[in-house]
Amino acid sequence: MKNQIDGDKKIWTILEIINWTTSYFKSLEIETSRMDAEILLAYVLNIKRIDLYLNYDKPLLANELNSFKTLIIRRKEKEPIAYIIGAKEFWSMEFTVTKDVLIPRPDTEILVEAAVAAIKKIKDKGKLKILELGVGSGAVISTIAFSAPDNIFFGTDICKKALNIAKQNGKKHNLKINFFLSDWFSAFKEKKVKFDIIISNPPYIPTEDIQGLAPEIKLYEPVSALDGGGNGLDSVNKIISDARFYLNKNGLLLLEIGFDQKKRVFDMVNSKEEYENPVCLKDYGGNNRVVIVKKIHRYKDTE
Ligand code: GLN
Repeated sequence: MKNQIDGDKKIWTILEIINWTTSYFKSLEIETSRMDAEILLAYVLNIKRIDLYLNYDKPLLANELNSFKTLIIRRKEKEPIAYIIGAKEFWSMEFTVTKDVLIPRPDTEILVEAAVAAIKKIKDKGKLKILELGVGSGAVISTIAFSAPDNIFFGTDICKKALNIAKQNGKKHNLKINFFLSDWFSAFKEKKVKFDIIISNPPYIPTEDIQGLAPEIKLYEPVSALDGGGNGLDSVNKIISDARFYLNKNGLLLLEIGFDQKKRVFDMVNSKEEYENPVCLKDYGGNNRVVIVKKIHRYKDTE
């Protein structure tokens, strides 16, 4: 086989082009080389990945080959697969993603799991009010709303384009979520509304670590969804500090954090008298990932 896919008028079968692309991606040190090749080809052919196997000997049409080549080049430039195909699976549901939103991570599924467990545990007083701050694609609030229906869901984002993607994803899965353009809690400032559960996966990477991230992340994902300021905890701090004014008594705050941030986040929580001792859950990679905080006092100034 020639090592270029342009150049001659060779007819490529599905199997041949998968093999060629896999070794090309491997040479670029793309770890998931075969999977990426298959996902992109299935996308171009508008078939399911599994159907590639049933059509291994089928030749590609010239226009299919051309479209595929442009996607290979995008991947070569380190664009994440999810942005190329405009979709990412999370919690077994498919979400539209664009470069305006963070690609949902498998690590974040533990945040959803914790939220759903919490909802089921405190569900003794009718519909709960559940808020996610900084929804991005809306994957977190949508999977929670899907898994624990019969509650009232709210989502915010500071970025209008992100909020539109989240709305689109909520609609796609037939979920009723009330979305607000908001800088953390700003949209609720003048309102008397309080929530039973507040969830967030805020930006928590220290500014100076951003340059060291994989090119897929640092060149393509929205930096505003990643950059947590000098020590990474600017947004976490703000949310912990403000959430006490917006939580009902016994309400819970669930926050995704960086693997090495548990102690500092616990210290922040423990410095506020309205909160009970926090707990921390690990993700499936064994890293500290979700902090759960319970509001115990009524905060004097808000009554
Ligand atoms: N876990 C994400 C990453 O490693 C960061 C997400 C965030 O800052 N909220 O890229």
